[in-house]
This record gives sequence, C-alpha cells and structure tokens, in this order.
Amino acid sequence: MNSAVRRACVMGHPISHSRSPMIHEYWLAQLGIAGRYELVDRAPGSFADFFTRLAEHGYVGGNITVPHKEAAFRLVARRDAIAEAVGAVNTVWYEGARLVGSNSDPHGFIANLDAVAPGWGAAGSRAVILGAGGAARSAAYALIERGADVALANRTIERARALAGHFGTHVSGHGFDALPALLPNADLLVNCTSLGMVGKPPLEIDLAPLKENALVCDLVYVPLETPLLARARARGHRIVDGLGMLLHQAGFGFEKWFGVMPKVTQELRALLEADIRK
Ligand code: NAP
Repeated sequence: MNSAVRRACVMGHPISHSRSPMIHEYWLAQLGIAGRYELVDRAPGSFADFFTRLAEHGYVGGNITVPHKEAAFRLVARRDAIAEAVGAVNTVWYEGARLVGSNSDPHGFIANLDAVAPGWGAAGSRAVILGAGGAARSAAYALIERGADVALANRTIERARALAGHFGTHVSGHGFDALPALLPNADLLVNCTSLGMVGKPPLEIDLAPLKENALVCDLVYVPLETPLLARARARGHRIVDGLGMLLHQAGFGFEKWFGVMPKVTQELRALLEADIRK
C-alpha cells in the first residue's frame, strides 16, 4: 500500500450495511484526494484490541458505529466536550500518538435542520424528542446548545428521566402518555426511536394535538419517508428526513482525516437515495 494514501475506516458489527464508505469515497474522488475509507467488522470481543492499535493497522482515524460507540468512549486517550456530553464516541483521529474521540451526530442533526428548514428558530423553541437512546442524547444536546427547551418522551420512562437528569434544566423526561399534553406546544417533533425503520413496527402516535406549524423530523432514514413523516406531511407539517443528518455528520471526520471540509451536495444525496431505494 502506498504510504501517501491516508486510510480511515468505519468499525462496527455487523457493518456491511453501512453507507459511510459511499459518502467518503464520493468526497475523496470529488476532491482528488489519495485516500481510502474501509469497512472493518469487529465483534465486541476483538474490538478493543483493534481500536487501540488503529495506527498500527494503517489508519489515521475512523468512525465507530453500533455496538462499539460506548466502548470507544472508554478507550480513547482524550474526549472532546461533545463526546463527554453525549456519552458516546463515533469519530476518532490522532493528535500525535493519542487517539482523540468526538461525536459528530449533534452537529449532523442541527446542520441538517439548518440546511433543510432555514430559520426553524431553535432559541426559545420547544422540542419534543421521542426516545432516550444514543440518538436522542445527540439530538437533545444539539437542541439545548441552540437554546431550545426539550421534552423527552420514551417507552421506558425511567430512561427519559435519567437522560433529562443528565442534561439538567431545560430538559424534562416523560412517558408516551404525556404526548397529548406536550405536542400542542411543540415547535419541533423528532423521532429518535428505531420505530418506523424497515423491519420494525411503525411509530404509532397521534399527531392531531401537534402544534399546527411544528416541524417534524425523523432520524430513521430507511425508508427515506417513514410512516411518521408521511402522516406529518399529509397534515401540512414541514418534514425533515434522517438521511441529511447522516450526510452532514460525516464531514467532521473527513476533515480530521483528510484535511478538507467536504460539501453535502445534491449529487451525493441522490447517490445515497438511489442506494436506499434499491
Ligand atoms: P438505541 O440507543 O437503541 O435507542 C432506541 C430507542 O428506541 C429507545 O428510546 C427505545 O426505547 C426506543 N424503542 C425501540 N423499540 C421500541 C418500541 N417497540 N416501542 C417504543 N420505543 C422503542 O438506538 P439509537 O442509537 O438511539 O438509534 C435510534 C434510531 O436513530 C435508529 O433507527 C438509528 O438508525 C437512528 N439514527 C440515525 C442517525 C442519522 O444519522 N440519521 C444517527 C443515529 C441514529 P426504550 O428505552 O424503551 O427501549
């Protein structure tokens, strides 16, 4: 292998479904950068050994996906403030010999909202987030940073309350039974559960009480238009799908590894859309 070729990877298990190589290989080709972005499948038992020797395996850094994000959080030499707040690491790079970790999902979430719904007005607005897992943590963090008030509603109410406690003021935790009271005041509704994804049951919440001009966002992007988004669109709400977040979060790592901040273009989005529709 030519040592001038910088190599990054995405580590997960399973990993063959990942669309990250498509995104990074597109940018590498567009920008004429001699680089590679590869899939690395490591089961939990062999992840730590591989991850802590990333440079020995020839990588300048990479992305981490399910189920290794929390392990990566524990294993890096340094975490930035975003990783600390989110409690998971999905992007790593080297500073000297030290592996540094961050989480690009909060940036991806908010950059996508800004791009698709300019002027959606975060400061002082009220958001209802469905879910209390990793994706909900990222979305909540990003929204709080922008000055929004966040209500988390989750099937397991204890998880929503614990996450709200982690973030402090401006975040409250609820069960789904609180939705009829929360939705009339919501400027933004975000699905951060895995419901609505291909192979999972649809998200069955009543949208009738939702504030008329609320923006509805789904982090699930397979299918591109989830049943939630389809219902919201039919009711006249502006909708934001999850593919944009995936695209917008990817540039953070690309810049760390290859030195250029790439652009999320319509052509790139069309490439991913075609792959998802296949
Ligand atoms: P996670 O940590 O496993 O959390 C899953 C969440 O879904 C939990 O809140 C869980 O509730 C809820 N849930 C699962 N099954 C449910 C059911 N049958 N009924 C009600 N609630 C249910 O997963 P995650 O990492 O947050 O990811 C969530 C989704 O976001 C996934 O579909 C993922 O692909 C997507 N995502 C997209 C992007 C993007 O770039 N667009 C980025 C990150 C994640 P309980 O706590 O009650 O179990």
